[in-house]
Amino acid sequence: MTVYESSILWFRSQLRVHDQPLFESRGGEDRPVVGVWVFDPREHLELVDGFPRAGSRRVRFLLESVESLRTSLRELGSELIVRVGEPEQVIPELAAELNVDSVIAFRQPGTEERGIERLLAASLGPKWKPLGYESVLEVEDLDVIADELPEVFSRFRRHVEKKIAFARPRETPSSLAIPQLPSGFDVGGVPDLRSLGYEVVDADERSVMDFKGGESQGLDRLHSWMFDHDNLQRYKQTRNGMLGEAYSSKFSPWLANGCLSGRFVVSETLRYERQRLANESTYWLRFEILWREYFRLYLMKHGPSMFLRGGPVQSDLAWGDPEGRFESWRTGETGVPLVDANMIELSTTGFMSNRGRQIVASFLSKNLDVDWRRGARWFEHCLIDYCPSANWGNWTYAAGVGADPRGFRGFDVARQAANYDPTGDYVAAWLGDRIGSLPVESRHAPWLAGGPTPIVDPERSLSEAKRRWDQLAAGD
Ligand SMILES: Cc1cc2nc3c(=O)[nH]c(=O)nc-3n(C[C@H](O)[C@H](O)[C@H](O)COP(=O)(O)OP(=O)(O)OC[C@H]3O[C@@H](n4cnc5c(N)ncnc54)[C@H](O)[C@@H]3O)c2cc1C
Repeated sequence: MTVYESSILWFRSQLRVHDQPLFESRGGEDRPVVGVWVFDPREHLELVDGFPRAGSRRVRFLLESVESLRTSLRELGSELIVRVGEPEQVIPELAAELNVDSVIAFRQPGTEERGIERLLAASLGPKWKPLGYESVLEVEDLDVIADELPEVFSRFRRHVEKKIAFARPRETPSSLAIPQLPSGFDVGGVPDLRSLGYEVVDADERSVMDFKGGESQGLDRLHSWMFDHDNLQRYKQTRNGMLGEAYSSKFSPWLANGCLSGRFVVSETLRYERQRLANESTYWLRFEILWREYFRLYLMKHGPSMFLRGGPVQSDLAWGDPEGRFESWRTGETGVPLVDANMIELSTTGFMSNRGRQIVASFLSKNLDVDWRRGARWFEHCLIDYCPSANWGNWTYAAGVGADPRGFRGFDVARQAANYDPTGDYVAAWLGDRIGSLPVESRHAPWLAGGPTPIVDPERSLSEAKRRWDQLAAGD
């Protein structure tokens, strides 16, 4: 590995010091490094469909994570410089001001992120030292794996399980050296929400948990969920839940911001198996981490087509986008309790279970006949675990224009309710005022007990979506 005299380590979405390959490039304890983090207004504040790309909850989690990274770097003896601006401008200016001989950063699979890398390569020249892509897999060149990626996840999984090992986490250094900063140099404060134009919103007490950004919070969650409460051993049975903090790991906000490393999570599941027990559930968490990896590779392979209406498969499916439907979905006012409860949970907490995400994505793109990209953008705004590859990958999958596009993937909401919320406790928790007084058997269909009718008939609208799908498949 090449070693540099003094370097800027540009932290993008790897906001941690554990398992941090960026440190390896320094080549020895006395090689000076300084961290840089840049808040890019384009990525967060730009208005799409009338709302900023990142909502207040997501940005709060991010800023907490940056604050925590700064503390960790200072404890190790280095520093985190914080700036607000466009990285392709800010970073070359800092590199000149600090007279470093290299800028080291991970490449990112997203389209905009790659555009910024090209601009940095042009302006920094040989000082630009990208490290490749982060991966949980032990592979030399992820680009090759991405180029050859199968369109179906299960083929990818089988290949990985047979041929590729999980990569081991890196050691955390015990100390870091910092380059001499010019006198009076301003390291910059982590911006607060108000200075960025956000309202500070209160936490909703019904949230599955109190999510706080930062590496130590992520590591605490990992330890508490996996080891203290032994939840990993039942994960496969509980993972489709919607209520409470234990049914799934809730690692996603920390993974998405890199406060937790995917490699570390995998290695902890293996340690759990050695120390406690190994069963289908302990395997299943790694299975889900492979889904995450798959969508990262999928985005690398398909690039900008992930964000187009027809998706990577260039589908001719059209969406009618009837007036007002997206707004009813977004605000939890479709009249279908399971959909509305999930959408209210999303907008008031920044989180939604995987089961919920699948149900509401299917409802928007199938029953409501709304362009799926509007849903993906609303998720991008709200989710504290927003990650371009996981979000757009799952949305293209749900809409039938992405990975594994075989067959009609529409969810029957009544069946989902019967399977995953049979007592109606989940919808009652979120829609208590609307349905609390109804008998349990009507909680998922209040219209059958004289309540308001939903904006579409769930059964009929699903059949119509299926008919549209079949017509396209038959080439009519
Ligand atoms: C429409 C839609 C949009 C989504 N958007 C995102 C997103 O922006 N960010 C995000 O991290 N996940 C996204 N997911 C995937 C999944 O819903 C979340 O990762 C999961 O619900 C997070 O909760 P958890 O950490 O408790 O998951 P667990 O069930 O405990 O899973 C462990 C980890 O595996 C990964 N994982 C699990 N399922 C998936 C999946 N289907 N795709 C990719 N990774 C997965 C996540 O990193 C997760 O933290 C989306 C799913 C759908 C259907």
